[in-house]
Amino acid sequence: MPDTPSPLEQRLQQIRIWIVVVANLAYLLYTVLTTVVGPDAFHWGDLLHGVHRTRYWGGFLTLGGLLAVWAWPARVREIYLPYVATLLLVSVAEVVSVVASRTMPFHLALWLSANMAIVFLVYGARGGLRAFALIMVVILAALVYTAPITGNLLADWLTTLIVMTVSGASSYLLMTLIENNMLVNERTIEELRTARIDLVTGVPGRAITEQALERSLQSALASGQPLSVIISDIDHFKSVNDQHGHKRGDEVLRAFAARIERQVPHGQVGRWGGEEFLILLPGYAYATARDLAEALCRSVKAEAVAGISITASFGVSCLTDDMATTESLFTAADSALYAAKRSGRNQVA
Ligand code: GH3
Ligand code: MG
Ligand code: MG
Repeated sequence: MPDTPSPLEQRLQQIRIWIVVVANLAYLLYTVLTTVVGPDAFHWGDLLHGVHRTRYWGGFLTLGGLLAVWAWPARVREIYLPYVATLLLVSVAEVVSVVASRTMPFHLALWLSANMAIVFLVYGARGGLRAFALIMVVILAALVYTAPITGNLLADWLTTLIVMTVSGASSYLLMTLIENNMLVNERTIEELRTARIDLVTGVPGRAITEQALERSLQSALASGQPLSVIISDIDHFKSVNDQHGHKRGDEVLRAFAARIERQVPHGQVGRWGGEEFLILLPGYAYATARDLAEALCRSVKAEAVAGISITASFGVSCLTDDMATTESLFTAADSALYAAKRSGRNQVA
Protein backbone atom coordinates (compact mmCIF):
# COMPACT_ATOMS: atom_id res chain seq x y z
CA MET A 1 0.00 0.00 0.00
CA PRO A 2 1.32 3.52 -0.73
CA ASP A 3 2.35 5.66 2.26
CA THR A 4 0.41 8.71 1.13
CA PRO A 5 -3.37 8.26 0.94
CA SER A 6 -4.64 7.66 -2.59
CA PRO A 7 -6.78 10.39 -4.22
CA LEU A 8 -9.82 8.17 -3.61
CA GLU A 9 -8.98 7.79 0.08
CA GLN A 10 -8.49 11.59 0.32
CA ARG A 11 -11.88 12.12 -1.30
CA LEU A 12 -13.49 9.70 1.13
CA GLN A 13 -11.87 11.57 4.04
CA GLN A 14 -13.38 14.84 2.73
CA ILE A 15 -16.78 13.16 2.56
CA ARG A 16 -16.35 11.92 6.15
CA ILE A 17 -15.58 15.47 7.27
CA TRP A 18 -18.65 16.81 5.50
CA ILE A 19 -20.88 14.12 7.00
CA VAL A 20 -19.70 14.93 10.53
CA VAL A 21 -20.01 18.69 9.94
CA VAL A 22 -23.53 18.35 8.50
CA ALA A 23 -24.61 15.99 11.31
CA ASN A 24 -23.29 18.42 13.94
CA LEU A 25 -24.91 21.41 12.28
CA ALA A 26 -28.18 19.45 12.10
CA TYR A 27 -28.00 18.71 15.82
CA LEU A 28 -27.29 22.36 16.61
CA LEU A 29 -30.26 23.42 14.47
CA TYR A 30 -32.41 20.83 16.24
CA THR A 31 -31.34 22.14 19.67
CA VAL A 32 -32.07 25.77 18.75
CA LEU A 33 -35.37 25.11 16.93
CA THR A 34 -36.82 22.77 19.54
CA THR A 35 -35.92 25.29 22.25
CA VAL A 36 -37.56 28.14 20.31
CA VAL A 37 -40.77 26.25 19.48
CA GLY A 38 -40.98 24.59 22.92
CA PRO A 39 -43.88 25.68 25.12
CA ASP A 40 -41.68 26.97 27.96
CA ALA A 41 -39.32 29.96 27.83
CA PHE A 42 -35.66 29.06 28.15
CA HIS A 43 -33.80 29.91 31.40
CA TRP A 44 -30.09 29.39 31.98
CA GLY A 45 -30.98 27.30 35.02
CA ASP A 46 -32.54 24.77 32.62
CA LEU A 47 -28.99 23.79 31.65
CA LEU A 48 -28.56 22.21 35.07
CA HIS A 49 -32.07 21.23 36.15
CA GLY A 50 -34.37 21.43 33.08
CA VAL A 51 -35.94 18.32 31.56
CA HIS A 52 -34.14 19.04 28.27
CA ARG A 53 -30.69 19.54 29.80
CA THR A 54 -29.28 16.49 27.91
CA ARG A 55 -30.30 18.12 24.63
CA TYR A 56 -28.65 21.46 25.57
CA TRP A 57 -25.39 19.77 26.59
CA GLY A 58 -25.56 17.76 23.37
CA GLY A 59 -25.72 21.12 21.56
CA PHE A 60 -22.55 22.32 23.32
CA LEU A 61 -20.86 19.01 22.50
CA THR A 62 -21.67 19.38 18.80
CA LEU A 63 -20.46 22.99 18.83
CA GLY A 64 -17.16 21.80 20.33
CA GLY A 65 -17.08 19.00 17.75
CA LEU A 66 -17.47 21.45 14.87
CA LEU A 67 -14.56 23.54 16.17
CA ALA A 68 -12.48 20.37 16.64
CA VAL A 69 -13.18 19.18 13.06
CA TRP A 70 -12.26 22.66 11.81
CA ALA A 71 -8.97 22.55 13.78
CA TRP A 72 -8.03 18.88 13.14
CA PRO A 73 -9.89 17.66 10.03
CA ALA A 74 -7.59 14.61 9.77
CA ARG A 75 -8.84 13.44 13.18
CA VAL A 76 -12.52 13.41 12.23
CA ARG A 77 -12.97 9.76 13.24
CA GLU A 78 -11.64 10.32 16.77
CA ILE A 79 -13.66 13.52 17.08
CA TYR A 80 -16.90 11.67 16.33
CA LEU A 81 -16.26 9.05 19.03
CA PRO A 82 -17.59 11.20 21.93
CA TYR A 83 -20.92 11.52 20.06
CA VAL A 84 -21.29 7.78 19.71
CA ALA A 85 -20.35 7.35 23.39
CA THR A 86 -22.75 10.11 24.52
CA LEU A 87 -25.59 8.72 22.43
CA LEU A 88 -24.99 5.33 23.97
CA LEU A 89 -24.98 6.72 27.53
CA VAL A 90 -28.15 8.73 26.92
CA SER A 91 -29.85 5.67 25.43
CA VAL A 92 -28.99 3.53 28.45
CA ALA A 93 -30.12 6.26 30.84
CA GLU A 94 -33.43 6.63 28.94
CA VAL A 95 -34.06 2.88 28.86
CA VAL A 96 -33.47 2.60 32.58
CA SER A 97 -35.62 5.63 33.44
CA VAL A 98 -38.41 4.37 31.18
CA VAL A 99 -39.95 2.38 34.01
CA ALA A 100 -40.59 5.56 35.90
CA SER A 101 -41.66 7.80 32.98
CA ARG A 102 -43.48 5.14 30.84
CA THR A 103 -42.72 7.19 27.70
CA MET A 104 -40.61 6.41 24.69
CA PRO A 105 -38.19 9.27 23.87
CA PHE A 106 -39.23 9.95 20.27
CA HIS A 107 -36.33 12.37 19.52
CA LEU A 108 -33.76 9.90 20.82
CA ALA A 109 -35.15 7.17 18.53
CA LEU A 110 -34.74 9.43 15.49
CA TRP A 111 -31.17 10.43 16.37
CA LEU A 112 -30.24 6.81 17.07
CA SER A 113 -31.51 5.77 13.61
CA ALA A 114 -29.67 8.64 11.90
CA ASN A 115 -26.44 7.77 13.70
CA MET A 116 -26.64 4.13 12.69
CA ALA A 117 -26.14 5.36 9.11
CA ILE A 118 -23.44 7.87 10.06
CA VAL A 119 -21.18 5.43 11.97
CA PHE A 120 -20.71 3.36 8.79
CA LEU A 121 -19.93 6.41 6.67
CA VAL A 122 -17.42 7.69 9.23
CA TYR A 123 -15.75 4.44 10.37
CA GLY A 124 -16.13 2.33 7.21
CA ALA A 125 -17.91 -1.04 6.84
CA ARG A 126 -15.89 -2.94 9.49
CA GLY A 127 -15.48 -0.12 12.03
CA GLY A 128 -19.13 0.84 11.57
CA LEU A 129 -20.23 -2.75 12.14
CA ARG A 130 -18.34 -2.81 15.45
CA ALA A 131 -19.91 0.47 16.60
CA PHE A 132 -23.34 -0.72 15.41
CA ALA A 133 -23.03 -4.06 17.25
CA LEU A 134 -21.82 -2.33 20.43
CA ILE A 135 -24.73 0.14 20.44
CA MET A 136 -27.30 -2.62 19.77
CA VAL A 137 -25.90 -4.94 22.43
CA VAL A 138 -25.77 -2.19 25.06
CA ILE A 139 -29.36 -1.02 24.36
CA LEU A 140 -30.67 -4.60 24.34
CA ALA A 141 -28.83 -5.34 27.60
CA ALA A 142 -30.34 -2.20 29.16
CA LEU A 143 -33.83 -3.23 27.96
CA VAL A 144 -33.42 -6.74 29.38
CA TYR A 145 -32.10 -5.28 32.65
CA THR A 146 -35.12 -2.96 32.89
CA ALA A 147 -37.59 -5.75 32.01
CA PRO A 148 -40.42 -6.29 32.02
CA ILE A 149 -41.20 -3.59 29.45
CA THR A 150 -44.57 -4.29 27.89
CA GLY A 151 -47.33 -2.92 25.66
CA ASN A 152 -46.82 0.25 23.63
CA LEU A 153 -43.46 0.95 25.17
CA LEU A 154 -42.10 -2.42 24.09
CA ALA A 155 -43.58 -1.92 20.61
CA ASP A 156 -41.91 1.53 20.38
CA TRP A 157 -38.48 0.23 21.39
CA LEU A 158 -38.78 -2.74 19.02
CA THR A 159 -39.70 -0.37 16.17
CA THR A 160 -36.70 1.82 17.04
CA LEU A 161 -34.33 -1.16 17.04
CA ILE A 162 -35.70 -2.40 13.69
CA VAL A 163 -35.41 1.03 12.05
CA MET A 164 -31.87 1.37 13.46
CA THR A 165 -31.02 -2.01 11.89
CA VAL A 166 -32.47 -1.04 8.50
CA SER A 167 -30.61 2.28 8.58
CA GLY A 168 -27.34 0.58 9.61
CA ALA A 169 -27.67 -2.30 7.14
CA SER A 170 -28.25 -0.01 4.14
CA SER A 171 -25.24 2.10 5.15
CA TYR A 172 -23.17 -1.06 5.62
CA LEU A 173 -24.03 -2.24 2.09
CA LEU A 174 -23.25 1.21 0.68
CA MET A 175 -19.86 1.34 2.42
CA THR A 176 -18.98 -2.20 1.33
CA LEU A 177 -19.72 -1.18 -2.25
CA ILE A 178 -17.61 2.00 -1.97
CA GLU A 179 -14.69 0.19 -0.29
CA ASN A 180 -14.67 -2.64 -2.85
CA ASN A 181 -14.72 -0.09 -5.65
CA MET A 182 -11.82 1.78 -4.05
CA LEU A 183 -9.83 -1.44 -3.81
CA VAL A 184 -10.44 -2.27 -7.47
CA ASN A 185 -9.54 1.30 -8.47
CA GLU A 186 -6.31 1.26 -6.48
CA ARG A 187 -5.29 -2.05 -8.07
CA THR A 188 -6.03 -0.68 -11.55
CA ILE A 189 -4.00 2.47 -10.86
CA GLU A 190 -1.07 0.36 -9.61
CA GLU A 191 -1.28 -1.92 -12.66
CA LEU A 192 -1.34 1.07 -15.00
CA ARG A 193 1.62 2.62 -13.18
CA THR A 194 3.74 -0.53 -13.44
CA ALA A 195 2.75 -0.94 -17.09
CA ARG A 196 4.23 2.49 -17.79
CA ILE A 197 7.48 1.73 -15.96
CA ASP A 198 10.09 -0.11 -18.01
CA LEU A 199 10.50 -3.50 -16.34
CA VAL A 200 14.17 -4.03 -17.31
CA THR A 201 15.51 -0.72 -15.98
CA GLY A 202 12.88 0.43 -13.45
CA VAL A 203 12.66 3.93 -15.01
CA PRO A 204 9.72 5.28 -17.08
CA GLY A 205 9.44 3.77 -20.55
CA ARG A 206 9.29 5.46 -23.96
CA ALA A 207 5.62 6.51 -24.01
CA ILE A 208 5.67 8.19 -20.61
CA THR A 209 9.05 9.84 -21.40
CA GLU A 210 7.71 11.30 -24.64
CA GLN A 211 4.73 12.72 -22.72
CA ALA A 212 7.07 14.17 -20.08
CA LEU A 213 9.20 15.76 -22.84
CA GLU A 214 6.10 17.38 -24.35
CA ARG A 215 4.91 18.62 -20.93
CA SER A 216 8.35 20.01 -20.02
CA LEU A 217 8.53 21.82 -23.36
CA GLN A 218 5.09 23.41 -22.90
CA SER A 219 5.84 24.60 -19.37
CA ALA A 220 9.28 25.91 -20.43
CA LEU A 221 7.67 27.86 -23.28
CA ALA A 222 4.98 29.20 -20.94
CA SER A 223 7.35 30.18 -18.11
CA GLY A 224 10.35 31.28 -20.20
CA GLN A 225 12.58 28.97 -18.12
CA PRO A 226 15.36 27.08 -19.92
CA LEU A 227 15.00 23.39 -20.77
CA SER A 228 17.82 21.03 -21.68
CA VAL A 229 17.89 17.37 -22.63
CA ILE A 230 20.68 14.81 -22.61
CA ILE A 231 20.62 11.58 -24.58
CA SER A 232 23.00 8.93 -23.34
CA ASP A 233 23.97 5.72 -25.10
CA ILE A 234 26.16 2.97 -23.69
CA ASP A 235 29.21 2.35 -25.86
CA HIS A 236 29.62 -1.03 -27.51
CA PHE A 237 26.81 -2.48 -25.47
CA LYS A 238 26.38 -5.27 -27.96
CA SER A 239 29.76 -6.65 -26.88
CA VAL A 240 28.65 -6.53 -23.20
CA ASN A 241 25.81 -8.88 -24.16
CA ASP A 242 28.12 -10.98 -26.28
CA GLN A 243 30.76 -11.36 -23.55
CA HIS A 244 28.64 -11.57 -20.39
CA GLY A 245 25.24 -12.73 -21.62
CA HIS A 246 21.90 -10.98 -22.01
CA LYS A 247 21.00 -11.33 -18.32
CA ARG A 248 24.13 -9.50 -17.16
CA GLY A 249 23.43 -6.98 -19.93
CA ASP A 250 20.03 -6.33 -18.32
CA GLU A 251 21.71 -5.80 -14.93
CA VAL A 252 24.09 -3.27 -16.47
CA LEU A 253 21.13 -1.40 -18.01
CA ARG A 254 19.32 -1.31 -14.64
CA ALA A 255 22.43 -0.17 -12.72
CA PHE A 256 23.24 2.41 -15.41
CA ALA A 257 19.71 3.89 -15.18
CA ALA A 258 19.87 3.89 -11.37
CA ARG A 259 23.23 5.68 -11.37
CA ILE A 260 22.00 8.39 -13.73
CA GLU A 261 18.81 8.83 -11.69
CA ARG A 262 20.87 9.21 -8.50
CA GLN A 263 23.08 11.86 -10.05
CA VAL A 264 20.21 13.80 -11.63
CA PRO A 265 18.04 14.74 -8.64
CA HIS A 266 16.24 17.59 -10.43
CA GLY A 267 15.67 15.89 -13.76
CA GLN A 268 13.71 12.97 -15.10
CA VAL A 269 15.34 9.90 -16.59
CA GLY A 270 13.49 7.69 -19.09
CA ARG A 271 14.43 4.73 -21.26
CA TRP A 272 14.19 5.86 -24.87
CA GLY A 273 14.95 2.40 -26.23
CA GLY A 274 17.64 -0.31 -26.10
CA GLU A 275 20.66 1.12 -24.21
CA GLU A 276 19.63 4.70 -24.83
CA PHE A 277 18.27 7.01 -22.09
CA LEU A 278 16.76 10.49 -22.23
CA ILE A 279 17.41 12.89 -19.36
CA LEU A 280 14.99 15.81 -19.08
CA LEU A 281 16.38 18.87 -17.32
CA PRO A 282 13.79 21.62 -16.78
CA GLY A 283 15.45 24.84 -15.59
CA TYR A 284 18.90 23.81 -16.93
CA ALA A 285 20.67 26.13 -19.38
CA TYR A 286 22.99 24.51 -21.94
CA ALA A 287 26.24 25.04 -19.96
CA THR A 288 24.82 23.50 -16.76
CA ALA A 289 23.37 20.55 -18.66
CA ARG A 290 26.70 19.98 -20.39
CA ASP A 291 28.56 20.08 -17.03
CA LEU A 292 26.15 17.46 -15.74
CA ALA A 293 26.66 15.25 -18.82
CA GLU A 294 30.46 15.53 -18.36
CA ALA A 295 30.09 14.46 -14.71
CA LEU A 296 27.90 11.48 -15.72
CA CYS A 297 30.39 10.46 -18.40
CA ARG A 298 33.27 10.55 -15.89
CA SER A 299 31.26 8.63 -13.30
CA VAL A 300 30.39 5.79 -15.73
CA LYS A 301 34.02 5.44 -16.78
CA ALA A 302 35.39 5.73 -13.21
CA GLU A 303 33.27 3.09 -11.49
CA ALA A 304 32.16 -0.25 -12.97
CA VAL A 305 28.42 -0.52 -13.61
CA ALA A 306 26.95 -3.74 -12.13
CA GLY A 307 30.53 -5.05 -11.94
CA ILE A 308 31.29 -4.42 -15.62
CA SER A 309 33.54 -1.65 -16.96
CA ILE A 310 31.69 0.35 -19.58
CA THR A 311 31.68 3.84 -21.05
CA ALA A 312 28.84 5.90 -22.47
CA SER A 313 28.45 8.80 -24.89
CA PHE A 314 26.22 11.82 -24.31
CA GLY A 315 24.51 14.38 -26.55
CA VAL A 316 23.22 17.65 -25.10
CA SER A 317 20.74 20.20 -26.46
CA CYS A 318 18.90 23.20 -25.06
CA LEU A 319 15.65 24.88 -26.01
CA THR A 320 16.19 27.96 -28.21
CA ASP A 321 13.90 30.18 -30.28
CA ASP A 322 14.62 28.23 -33.47
CA MET A 323 14.41 24.89 -31.64
CA ALA A 324 11.04 25.09 -29.93
CA THR A 325 9.51 21.68 -30.70
CA THR A 326 10.15 18.31 -29.07
CA GLU A 327 11.35 16.96 -32.45
CA SER A 328 13.94 19.70 -32.96
CA LEU A 329 15.13 19.48 -29.34
CA PHE A 330 15.47 15.70 -29.57
CA THR A 331 17.10 15.75 -33.02
CA ALA A 332 19.73 18.25 -31.85
CA ALA A 333 20.64 16.04 -28.86
CA ASP A 334 20.65 12.94 -31.05
CA SER A 335 22.97 14.61 -33.61
CA ALA A 336 25.28 15.62 -30.76
CA LEU A 337 25.29 12.02 -29.50
CA TYR A 338 26.15 10.81 -32.99
CA ALA A 339 29.04 13.30 -33.09
CA ALA A 340 30.29 12.02 -29.70
CA LYS A 341 30.22 8.45 -31.03
CA ARG A 342 32.07 9.46 -34.20
CA SER A 343 34.72 11.28 -32.21
CA GLY A 344 35.66 8.12 -30.34
CA ARG A 345 32.86 7.55 -27.73
CA ASN A 346 33.19 8.04 -23.91
CA GLN A 347 32.57 11.76 -24.31
CA VAL A 348 29.99 14.55 -24.40
CA ALA A 349 29.04 16.58 -27.47
P1 GH3 B 1 27.51 1.92 -29.95
O1 GH3 B 1 28.71 2.23 -29.16
O2 GH3 B 1 27.62 2.37 -31.36
O3 GH3 B 1 26.28 2.44 -29.30
O4 GH3 B 1 27.43 0.34 -30.01
P2 GH3 B 1 26.37 -0.60 -29.34
O5 GH3 B 1 26.85 -1.99 -29.41
O6 GH3 B 1 26.08 -0.10 -27.98
O7 GH3 B 1 25.09 -0.33 -30.23
P3 GH3 B 1 24.18 -1.31 -31.07
O8 GH3 B 1 22.99 -0.45 -31.45
O9 GH3 B 1 24.96 -1.97 -32.16
O10 GH3 B 1 23.73 -2.41 -30.06
C1 GH3 B 1 22.83 -2.16 -29.02
C2 GH3 B 1 22.65 -3.45 -28.29
O11 GH3 B 1 21.81 -3.28 -27.16
C3 GH3 B 1 22.02 -4.53 -29.14
C4 GH3 B 1 20.95 -5.13 -28.28
O12 GH3 B 1 21.04 -6.52 -28.19
C5 GH3 B 1 21.19 -4.52 -26.92
N1 GH3 B 1 19.97 -4.35 -26.17
C6 GH3 B 1 18.90 -3.59 -26.50
N2 GH3 B 1 17.96 -3.71 -25.55
C7 GH3 B 1 18.43 -4.58 -24.62
C8 GH3 B 1 17.91 -5.11 -23.40
O13 GH3 B 1 16.80 -4.81 -22.97
N3 GH3 B 1 18.69 -5.96 -22.69
C9 GH3 B 1 19.94 -6.33 -23.14
N4 GH3 B 1 20.66 -7.16 -22.40
N5 GH3 B 1 20.44 -5.85 -24.29
C10 GH3 B 1 19.70 -4.99 -25.01
MG1 MG C 1 25.29 1.86 -27.72
MG1 MG D 1 22.10 2.65 -29.25
